[in-house]
Amino acid sequence: MSSQLKYKRILLKLSGEALAGPNGYNIDPAVLEQYSQEILSVVEMGVEVAIVIGGGNIFRGVSGQRSGIDRVQGDYMGMLATVINAMAIQSSLEKHGMYTRVMSAIKMEQVCEPYVRRRAIRHLEKKRVVIFGAGTGNPYFTTDSTAALRGNEIEADVLLKGTKVDGVYTADPMKDPTATRYNHISFRDVYEKELNVMDLTAFTLCRENNLPIIVFDMNKPGNLNRLVSGEDVGTLISN
Ligand code: UDP
Repeated sequence: MSSQLKYKRILLKLSGEALAGPNGYNIDPAVLEQYSQEILSVVEMGVEVAIVIGGGNIFRGVSGQRSGIDRVQGDYMGMLATVINAMAIQSSLEKHGMYTRVMSAIKMEQVCEPYVRRRAIRHLEKKRVVIFGAGTGNPYFTTDSTAALRGNEIEADVLLKGTKVDGVYTADPMKDPTATRYNHISFRDVYEKELNVMDLTAFTLCRENNLPIIVFDMNKPGNLNRLVSGEDVGTLISN
């Protein structure tokens, strides 16, 4: 089975906002259920899955500033929010029979394991789904940067950015009806055309270390499965 796989080890980045479903905050059980089924389908194919989840459905450092919260304090709150989401995903994946580990960049031993790279790789080799919580553990970063960092550290074959849109467009499709989607675009072109894929820290980490990114619609059932099987889904960004 695994010989048919295009990608054997993936880093799946999911935004916190996506978890919230239509109401825009908290965690929507229907989204959790759908994501778990998508992830189960690729785990059953033998894919090694690592996940980075955002925290935007609960708290974002920058927006916290508007309510008078110090930026760095807010960033730590955002990181803690990602652990809440990681635990929700863990619980849902386990309900579907998958073996999982949450590894946090901030130590909280009663709740989850601390992040240790070699251990994370060992979990993946044993086909456990590893969910990285607490971002990079540092303020001023994002979970996209976390995905780029962890993706490189665990030597993932690809960084899959699951979003609500089905790829990278020539312009914002919400504003410009003539916008078209790229199937494949180089890192250089994304940079030169100033297309908004990820923040520059995340983008540069992937570009410099040759970690391809695929932006795809995570809400379309079967997309994750099609992707790892090598079908053209979303937009591939590579050198
Ligand atoms: N964050 C941080 N360092 C990290 C990762 C995240 O400080 O390494 C904080 C930051 O405040 C961010 C919040 O956690 O706004 C939630 O993450 P993010 O906004 O990336 O989540 P998403 O947009 O994917 O839901």
